[in-house]
Amino acid sequence: MREEEIETAIKVVVVGNGAVGKSSMIQRYCKGIFTKDYKKTIGVDFLERQIEVNGEEVRLMLWDTAGQEEFDAITKAYYRGAQACVLAFSTVDRDSFEAIDSWKKKVEDEVGEIGMVIIQNKIDLIDDAVVEPEEAEALAHRLRLRFYRTSVKDNLNVDEVFRYLTEKYLFQINCEVEEEPYNQPKITIGQGLLEAEMNNHVKDTNGKTKEKANGKLQKKKNRNRDDSDTIKLEPSKRRTRGKKSVLQATKCVIL
Ligand code: GDP
Ligand code: MG
Repeated sequence: MREEEIETAIKVVVVGNGAVGKSSMIQRYCKGIFTKDYKKTIGVDFLERQIEVNGEEVRLMLWDTAGQEEFDAITKAYYRGAQACVLAFSTVDRDSFEAIDSWKKKVEDEVGEIGMVIIQNKIDLIDDAVVEPEEAEALAHRLRLRFYRTSVKDNLNVDEVFRYLTEKYLFQINCEVEEEPYNQPKITIGQGLLEAEMNNHVKDTNGKTKEKANGKLQKKKNRNRDDSDTIKLEPSKRRTRGKKSVLQATKCVIL
C-alpha cells in the first residue's frame, strides 16, 4: 500500500443510559435520517462516515449498542480499541445525567484515557428539562471535557461533536509523535517488538535491513488495558498522511 492511500480510522463509542438518543445520533450522522421509532439494529456493530479534517481524510466508525446498556451488559469487545468517546445524557432524563461519571469510568477502565466529549441531547425539549444548564456545565468543567448541547431531532450540533473528537484525536497522535523522537533511549520495548525499529531500520521483504523513509515512530501507551505495560512503536505514517496538522504547531493540551 502506498503512503498516500493509508487512511486514519477512528473507532468512536457512544455511551450513556438507554433512550438518550445514541442510536438516533449515529443514524443521523452516518445516514442523515431521524426516525421517532428507531428499531434497535441487532447484529450491526457500527456505522461509518468519512470526513475531511485539516486536509486529512478520516474514517469514523461509530459503534452502537443493541440496547444492552439497560442491563449493564456491554461487553469489553464494544469498548476495545476505542479512540474516542461520546458520553451522552438526555435533557429530560435526570438519571442519565447522573450516570455520566460512571459511563466515563467504565470506558476508561477498559481503554484508558481517550478523547471524550459530553453531550446533552434532546435540547429541543428544553421546556421539559430536568437538568439545569449550570449543572451540566459544572459537570463538564469538573470532568475537564468539552460539552455540547445537541438535538438529533433538529440536527443541531451533531456534526460538530464528531468533528471535535476527530480533531482532538489527530492532535493527540501528532503530539505523541512530536514528544517521542524515534531514537530516544529511554523507551522500553515491550515483548515482540523489533529492536531494529529503535535503530531506525526495518527489514524489507528479502530480509535485508534498510533505512526507513520516515524515521519517526509513534508511542502508543495504555490505549488498551491488556497492553498497559507494552509500548508499541509504529511508523507515524500508519495513521498520519503527508501534511502535518496545523494543530501540531500549537502546544498539546487535552481539553
Ligand atoms: P438510545 O437508547 O440511547 O440508543 O436512544 P434512541 O436513539 O433509541 O432514542 C430514544 C428515543 O429518543 C427515540 O424515540 C428517538 O426518536 C428519541 N430521540 C433521539 N434523539 C432525540 C432528540 O434530539 N430530540 C427528541 N425530541 N427525541 C429524540
Ligand atoms: Mg440504542
